[in-house]
Amino acid sequence: MTMDGWAWELPDELQQLRKVVRDFMRHEVRPAEEPLDFDAYELPHDVLEDLQKKARAAGLWCVASPVEHGGSGMSLLAQCVVAEQASQCRMGAYTPAAGTFGWDPPNVIWKGTPEQIERYAVPTVASGGKTFVAITEPSGGADPARAITTNAVQDGDEWVINGTKVFISAADSSDWGIVFARTSPGKGRQGISCFVVERGTPGLTMRPIPVIRSWYPCELSFVDCRVPNDNLLGEEGRGFDLAQEWLVHGRVPYAAATLGIASAALDIAIEHAVNRETFGSRLADKQAIQWMLADSEIEIRAARGLVYEAAWRADLGREFKVEASAAKVYATETAGRVVDRCIQILGGLGVTKELPLERWYRELRIKRIGEGPSEVHRMVVARELIRSEAAGRDR
Ligand SMILES: Cc1cc2nc3c(=O)[nH]c(=O)nc-3n(C[C@H](O)[C@H](O)[C@H](O)COP(=O)(O)OP(=O)(O)OC[C@H]3O[C@@H](n4cnc5c(N)ncnc54)[C@H](O)[C@@H]3O)c2cc1C
Repeated sequence: MTMDGWAWELPDELQQLRKVVRDFMRHEVRPAEEPLDFDAYELPHDVLEDLQKKARAAGLWCVASPVEHGGSGMSLLAQCVVAEQASQCRMGAYTPAAGTFGWDPPNVIWKGTPEQIERYAVPTVASGGKTFVAITEPSGGADPARAITTNAVQDGDEWVINGTKVFISAADSSDWGIVFARTSPGKGRQGISCFVVERGTPGLTMRPIPVIRSWYPCELSFVDCRVPNDNLLGEEGRGFDLAQEWLVHGRVPYAAATLGIASAALDIAIEHAVNRETFGSRLADKQAIQWMLADSEIEIRAARGLVYEAAWRADLGREFKVEASAAKVYATETAGRVVDRCIQILGGLGVTKELPLERWYRELRIKRIGEGPSEVHRMVVARELIRSEAAGRDR
């Protein structure tokens, strides 16, 4: 979105990017997904490798990771353009582009030392490997700063981690991940530090937690799990600042991805409404159906505006936490409503597993909880309204 002349459209290069990703999804990813089980969350290895080569050649590789470390180094707005298209496949809610664009390591790793980047991030970007981020604990995830009780105690040239994390996505398929633990007593964000922990480290065990999606997150138990001092990421006691950075940035493409699913669902519903007849006329001619289609389109456009605004502010280096929360709430809730309406328009067909709607319906339910529940994001927006009132709000 350029600001010279106030153009309310994406600049040419982002429109071009959108087309490249859209074509890739249509001609490469969706056909590759076609023969798989309805609930598959990854492509067969050889198919994936082949498509990953093509994605790299098209400049669609680890889009958020810096160019100098093997990624495509895209702006947040460009990442959103990619995310909106990459989610438009059956497994797209949680496996964007079916994994063909690789997996960006958590952005906080780029705040690490050159040795940490070289040792962990660079090989991961090169291989397209997954990583995990472990914040949530049995004591809660919505307010992690107060809930984290997993602790790390320094012992010579190692940190010894004890505690439990829950709902950690991809932990069982990643070589390493980021773990947040308390390194000084008390509650709150002070005293939380961030560590790189390799899967397979003695003292770390995992078990899957079955959930509404077929790709299960894990419970992680740390019992005297020792990591070298070199694996402390950033400053001791300042880990929560890193967590915030990861979370706030991640929310914007997360919102864009749910928007992509809503758009794809609406396409399916429109096609069906135009072709299906009941009571002597097309569904598309009935006002009840038209209103569902229209409301969905209006909400998708509104959500896209919020997503782009948050990304645009971030790319300009402006504060964007409130905008990211607004985008996250509205896009995820919109996507849930839109897919629900689309299922209604398709009738029985809407809940069959031959179409992706029922899967999206289930998986989108997580999106109102993961990356912070809707209520917490509304709280972020409300706090800003109340703070700005006290500061002499002027809008
Ligand atoms: C499939 C899946 C994958 C996940 N992946 C990861 C991961 O990779 N890494 C990770 O660290 N975590 C992950 N999570 C955890 C996720 O981030 C948390 O579930 C989420 O932050 C909410 O935490 P909680 O479940 O402990 O709910 P709680 O913190 O117990 O909150 C419960 C409910 O209370 C309400 N609530 C909370 N605070 C407020 C408030 N201030 N005002 C009003 N209502 C409020 C909300 O409705 C909320 O849903 C994942 C979760 C799921 C389900």
